[in-house]
Amino acid sequence: MCGIAGIFNVENGESLIAEILFAIQHRGQESCGIAARNSKGNIFCYKGMGLVKNVLTEKVLDKYCGDIAIGHVRYPTAGKSDETNSQPHSIELPEGPHMAVCSNGDIINYHELRTWLEKDYGFTFKSDNDGELIGRLVAFHLIHKKMKIENAIIEAQKQLKGAFSSIVIYRDQMFAFRDPHGFRPYVLGHIKPSETGEHSSNGAVLASESCAFGIIGAKLIRELEPGEVIKFEKDKPIKVIAVNSLKKQHCVFELIYFSRPDAITFGEKVYDVRKKIGARLAEYDKEMKFGSDTVVMAVPDSSNFVALGYAAKSGVPFDMGLLRNHYVGRTFTKPDQKQRDEGVRHKFNPLPEFFKGKKVVLVDDSIVRGTTLRKIVRMIRGAGAREVHVRIGSPRVIGSCYYGIDTPTRKELIAAIKNNDEICAFLEADSLRYIEVEDFTKILTKPETFCYACFNLKYEYSPENYHQKTNTPDSRC
Ligand code: SF4
Repeated sequence: MCGIAGIFNVENGESLIAEILFAIQHRGQESCGIAARNSKGNIFCYKGMGLVKNVLTEKVLDKYCGDIAIGHVRYPTAGKSDETNSQPHSIELPEGPHMAVCSNGDIINYHELRTWLEKDYGFTFKSDNDGELIGRLVAFHLIHKKMKIENAIIEAQKQLKGAFSSIVIYRDQMFAFRDPHGFRPYVLGHIKPSETGEHSSNGAVLASESCAFGIIGAKLIRELEPGEVIKFEKDKPIKVIAVNSLKKQHCVFELIYFSRPDAITFGEKVYDVRKKIGARLAEYDKEMKFGSDTVVMAVPDSSNFVALGYAAKSGVPFDMGLLRNHYVGRTFTKPDQKQRDEGVRHKFNPLPEFFKGKKVVLVDDSIVRGTTLRKIVRMIRGAGAREVHVRIGSPRVIGSCYYGIDTPTRKELIAAIKNNDEICAFLEADSLRYIEVEDFTKILTKPETFCYACFNLKYEYSPENYHQKTNTPDSRC
């Protein structure tokens, strides 16, 4: 999971990129970067390891300014965890000025395309990152096929398999494009002229999540269509130059966990979906004897709205017994187990005396390995809780993701190797319930437009089925 941002034709675009990235920091905390086109027509790129506030400082933004700019926050899913793999990528072109690219998602046929570009056309790669592959593929069509930039992007889009929400700056133009299934979120907005008149009337904004728009005074226009390619050109209206869409496969986990509750993602209000999940979980528990000694509690923060929905439906009061330290990042988005374990210890702390003698309905968004949740259950029991009943706002995660979410291999997923009773015992909980897939789909406005592959293993592409279909090796997975 990563986050992308784009600004077109807005003075001080670099500052707005930093603000958008700050708003979507939850999508990736490992590294971030910006690429901007200055008044002389040169595109400069700056990136570094760490949070937006630490990398994109005022001093940096003063240097990398421009009215066309893109930015990225990275959570590594494929490729090493280092600065070379952070985005955006600057792509050299023989005629200059350079092109800049950023993308969110994972490319299934990454190695096949990279090897082809390296061996047959002498391309050199600086990173192992999907964003660079996308940029070099576009460059291939520009240089070797002598295509116009529009056609180069459309051709590259056809060759790429997997998930990608991408932005390219080329000369004084910007292009937004998305994979034909629309796996990762992608929204388009515009900025009205400000009171001081500093924003151009056709200023356009792109972001992974709509919650970033309000913060910078932009208005949501719409979500990009799957397979859409949009061109932004000065003094011209935004132009859709292609729509190569296939069956929609929006990532349902964006609604469960990744997107901010104040975002509208895939046409759904995220907070609303989460509250409905909670209400459904409460319906399952009609027979449970929860009395006045019971509280509903979220594992903060992504489960808060699920817990609120549960409390409203069940009549059991919602309370907050765990304090979350907001200066520790998301534990799931930490790249390794050791970092995740340390994250849990530093992240949550029980309120003194709060749990003594209480029954707790503990609501979490999902279970991946189960190790984090077990630590939290132990923490609550250690603080005096009499019973802990775990309720999960997603169906059982039994498969890995190949579309931009770093889920572990199947054998590490607890729901793939244990049944409900065994998971409950592992968690040291008194009871455990997940929302069922069928009930989950009833909550969504257009359930047929979503990917549920990590719950039902019905992958549009996986490394196995893609390489079986095409008879090509995959050295990446
Ligand atoms: S497999 Fe799961 S996490 Fe990956 S895109 Fe599909 S729903 Fe999202």
